Amino acid sequence: MEKKQIPLSVPNLDIEIVDNLRECIETGWVSTGGRFIAEFEQKMASYVGIKDAVSAQSGTAGLHVALRILGVSAGDEVLVPTLTFVAGVNPVKYLGAEPVFMDCDDSLCMDPEKLESFCAEECALEGNQLINKVTGRTVKAIVVVHIFGNLAQMERIMAIAAQYNLKVLEDATEALGSYYAEGKYQGYFSGTVADMGVYSFNANKIITTGGGGMIVSRNQEYLDEARYLTITAKKTSAEEMLFFVHGEVGYNYRMLNLQAALGVSQMDQLEQFIETKKMNYRVYQEQLKDLAEDGLVSLLPFREGIRANHWFYSLYIDDKRFGESRDELMHRLIENGIQCRPVWKLIHTLEPYKDAQHYKIDKAIDYADHILNVPCSTNLMADEVRHVCQMIKNK
Ligand SMILES: *Cc1c(COP(=O)(O)O)cnc(C)c1O
Repeated sequence: MEKKQIPLSVPNLDIEIVDNLRECIETGWVSTGGRFIAEFEQKMASYVGIKDAVSAQSGTAGLHVALRILGVSAGDEVLVPTLTFVAGVNPVKYLGAEPVFMDCDDSLCMDPEKLESFCAEECALEGNQLINKVTGRTVKAIVVVHIFGNLAQMERIMAIAAQYNLKVLEDATEALGSYYAEGKYQGYFSGTVADMGVYSFNANKIITTGGGGMIVSRNQEYLDEARYLTITAKKTSAEEMLFFVHGEVGYNYRMLNLQAALGVSQMDQLEQFIETKKMNYRVYQEQLKDLAEDGLVSLLPFREGIRANHWFYSLYIDDKRFGESRDELMHRLIENGIQCRPVWKLIHTLEPYKDAQHYKIDKAIDYADHILNVPCSTNLMADEVRHVCQMIKNK
């Protein structure tokens, strides 16, 4: 008998998208122009409650442009998490700047306590510049990542950034739809709190355009610059357009109409996807209750006071109590057709970053050793969740 396969996180596309794609093909608008791009940007902006948004080829491209707009350049430093996907950190290097790695708190997002003590103890304010005392370089910005749809403690982080004159970029690639339900930023969606934010529509994200990204901000000047830089910094008066006048070294980063054709349709399903994610999360919670109460395998919670999009479900495996290590459990599930993954290898331990500075990292090490991410697709059925939980228990 063929074994039942349950994937980790796969797209959930409505077949009506074919009508949009057909329109692109019939009209010839398959590239970086066409009606779906503006429509998708507008739909996104209004969903997250801001005026405008700028599409990009990928989340990574969006992060690259945003960091450049926030003034990060060669020789600067940027404070980044070590527990995240590498694409949130690589743009620092694209710009010739250096990352300094920070630890996480129990939400898996950047720990504000350690962020603050790094700024206070390891750096000094000279005029309005924060200088790293070890390297002598200027610290320009912080990249905050809202891990797995959870939200970082932005109230604290924004206050620290203001005190030390740092720009903040939100890597909200995993957290589209998450927002603060209380506090200073009540009603603010992920990505719209800091100076700039970026979403991703890669195939494993909560909505997908195959590949793609979106840059958001409450500062229109930043968005105008993003729009300009993503079309090779091409000047836009009729005369300048005709004669290919480019004002800076820009990028070919604009989203394709073909991608946006998927995006406009996926936006209509986003809230429903979040509902499904929440429902399945509750099934996991219910099914794993006994294991969690005994501290064997626990489902990581989302922060209080937020509406999380519940993008990814992380289990914390206490190998001693459970009697099986994270890796043993992972391989056993995979053999049984259940796709699951550990959390990323910490970035400060990766070959290209092993010489970079890092600060008091310990929580991230523990989480990296014990987390297992389990199936969470928006077309996952409650029965499948029960099957996964049964398999976890059947050791
Ligand atoms: C997916 C992801 C990105 C990159 O997005 P792409 O669209 O794949 O380029 C960056 N950071 C994090 C945390 C991500 O999960």
